Amino acid sequence: MVQVQSWLADNAGALGILLGERELEQFERYYELLVEWNEKMNLTGITEREAVYEKHFYDSLTVSMAAELEGDKALADIGSGAGFPSIPLKIAFPDLKVTIVDALAKRIRFLEEVAAQLDLKGIVCLHGRAEDLGRLPEHRDRYDIATARAVARLAGLNELCLPFVRAGGFFVAMKGSDVREELDESEYSLSKLNARLRDTIRLELPIEKADRHLVVMAKNGPTPKPYPRKAGIPLKTPLL
Ligand code: SAM
Repeated sequence: MVQVQSWLADNAGALGILLGERELEQFERYYELLVEWNEKMNLTGITEREAVYEKHFYDSLTVSMAAELEGDKALADIGSGAGFPSIPLKIAFPDLKVTIVDALAKRIRFLEEVAAQLDLKGIVCLHGRAEDLGRLPEHRDRYDIATARAVARLAGLNELCLPFVRAGGFFVAMKGSDVREELDESEYSLSKLNARLRDTIRLELPIEKADRHLVVMAKNGPTPKPYPRKAGIPLKTPLL
């Protein structure tokens, strides 16, 4: 256990993130809760400690390569599932104001428990569809950063996530090894949603050596009125 914790501290350090004793304890408690609750509900297929630390915890922290997270920035994590990437980011950047959105109530219950047990302040967990919440004035065009990992292909995902982002803010989509095709097919959705591609950052997981990409999209101005369309439509009929 000490070994994985120092592994995480070293590798977070290489990303410029300083993890102290409190943060490392929070990561370990998060790991325990994940494994415990995973026996009652489907949260993750990865349960081995080293793999969780690398493929969930470290992977989540790489968002810091794509966006400035220091200070009291507002971040919306869409389709957070078991809390990735937002819970590791909140542990590492305690001033971050995090809003988690997920369509599955039991995952939201799990995340509320994680926030309570880790004593994380400034996390709001919302049960609902991104398409519905992205239409509410308190969430629409409000966030400095939106994130999403393993939720959908970019063309559909952009319509779920970009409506949350304020003008001048960013949506960071966490993607696997192959993004070229998704990037090409997402161009039309970006133009409709008043956003543009800003950067694509390639990285490698330190142990597994698997490729990852952070696709960074910048919001040019407010979300055009027709978007997001009704729940279910963006992924069923993406803006292609
Ligand atoms: N981001 C997490 C990760 O990387 O481990 C979870 C990924 S999981 C495969 C996708 C999650 O997105 C699920 O928890 C699902 O409930 C949620 N989801 C899918 N469509 C959604 C929508 N339209 N609005 C909100 N949540 C959604």
